[in-house]
Amino acid sequence: MLKLKRSINIQVLYGFAIGTTVTILVLYSGIWTLIQGEKPPTKEEMGNAYWTAIHTLAANLQVEATGAEEHACNLIHAIAKLYPCLECREHFAQFVADNPPNCSSRNELLIWTCRAHNEVNKRNRKPLFACDVSSLDGRWGSCGCEG
Ligand SMILES: Cc1cc2nc3c(=O)[nH]c(=O)nc-3n(C[C@H](O)[C@H](O)[C@H](O)COP(=O)(O)OP(=O)(O)OC[C@H]3O[C@@H](n4cnc5c(N)ncnc54)[C@H](O)[C@@H]3O)c2cc1C
Repeated sequence: MLKLKRSINIQVLYGFAIGTTVTILVLYSGIWTLIQGEKPPTKEEMGNAYWTAIHTLAANLQVEATGAEEHACNLIHAIAKLYPCLECREHFAQFVADNPPNCSSRNELLIWTCRAHNEVNKRNRKPLFACDVSSLDGRWGSCGCEG
């Protein structure tokens, strides 16, 4: 009986120690983030954010909306001219020149964005994404923000 009580006490003690350690770590990382403040994005974070914008824009393109086709293609061309990393922008501009996007079709533009992204993935030795509409819809389809 005494042995059982002791083992329960040890388990409670372990639970308490683990709980306290986790709480301290969570608080510490939160306070550290607050002290540090928000930082500019890294090259990777920026790339990730741009691709999210590019793929979701294509996935949610409503070609019947006035000017949508022109605006979408203007955006692609603007990125090719203004993307903040020189090497990336030069490669992207070359891809756009060699493979002009068709912005009059939602699916074609979506596939085009995938091919453009895969060009970078190839250079960075990252896995290639399957550029079919069903895979792309699974990853980038509706954001639930229509209307
Ligand atoms: C226009 C442009 C040009 C770039 N050029 C360069 C460059 O020359 N050199 C360089 O080092 N970095 C470049 N980058 C950044 C690079 O592509 C990545 O964004 C960055 O390395 C971060 O990679 P990540 O692992 O977070 O995933 P990312 O490559 O940013 O991908 C984000 C998510 O997109 C999905 N995804 C991956 N591939 C595809 C695809 N083909 N189609 C659809 N969805 C996909 C995946 O779910 C992935 O998690 C460029 C970015 C942009 C927007």
